Amino acid sequence: MHANNPFDSNYKFSVLVNAVPELGAYIIPGKFARKSIDFSDPKAVYLLNKALLKWRFNVNWTLKDGHLCPAVPGRFDYLLHANDLLSKIEGRRARMLDIGTGASLIYPLLGTAAFNWECVGTEVDKESISYAKGLIRMNASMLGTKIRRQEFKSNILTGIVEKKEQFDLLVCNPPFYKNKSEALAANARKNKNLHGADETHHNFGGSANELWYKGGEEAFLKKLALESAEFGAQIQWFTCLVSKKDHIRTFKRFIRKGNPTDLKVIEMTHGNKSSQFVAWTFQNHDNESVK
Ligand code: SAH
Repeated sequence: MHANNPFDSNYKFSVLVNAVPELGAYIIPGKFARKSIDFSDPKAVYLLNKALLKWRFNVNWTLKDGHLCPAVPGRFDYLLHANDLLSKIEGRRARMLDIGTGASLIYPLLGTAAFNWECVGTEVDKESISYAKGLIRMNASMLGTKIRRQEFKSNILTGIVEKKEQFDLLVCNPPFYKNKSEALAANARKNKNLHGADETHHNFGGSANELWYKGGEEAFLKKLALESAEFGAQIQWFTCLVSKKDHIRTFKRFIRKGNPTDLKVIEMTHGNKSSQFVAWTFQNHDNESVK
């Protein structure tokens, strides 16, 4: 966990219930006389994350029906580490581009609330875009957030980044399944593990659609790596989460084709989980270290 991450797992449930009273009905006794929630209950997990956003950032947030709930502590950890890459910016807001912002708009919401970034989110899914626009309207401080539709699912930056436009940071939590049936099967497995029964959430179908990219995570990473070089003068730091460690080598190989001036893997741990993102740039900074 990043030192500045306020979300350790010892949640202060009384404060959180104050922020979102609906959470109160889902509080159960936990270990060591503490309070907890049932982490296998999607509604309880959603309300917990909603309360974290409200309590810490005063962000109003709802989750589109049937969508997997982003875990706010981990999402925020990624942004904290990515923020560490940025050099000091004075006299203007940093500009962040979130590839595949989803219906939840989670990175622009956190980026604006925590770092005052001016955010642009991209998305291919029309319904997610209209949902995310609703979230912008629910939060006055987010009114500067823009969402751009990527019309061609196989493209990532092409058609999105405008001529001469500059961004300080790109973030991305990529779609990782190879096709819709793989996404559905993985979700069914997840539910089985959580519930000990083969219960599936009937309305997951819509969101499963978004969790895949032709060729899976590997193909997406390759495309992003190759496109990034074309926009290297316009985007200062590129970052992208990688869910499978095995994909990092190939990803780095494709990034190197564009001759980055810096390229690194940043490891993150939250509780007993670890995750990583790759960060690279084609511009000149202090402490260059191409690995
Ligand atoms: N950022 C959100 C959602 C990540 S899921 C979160 O972290 O929870 C990946 C998202 O990428 C999906 O919403 C999917 O629709 C979108 N996506 C897939 N291909 C894309 C592309 N080529 N350009 C932009 N978004 C894309």
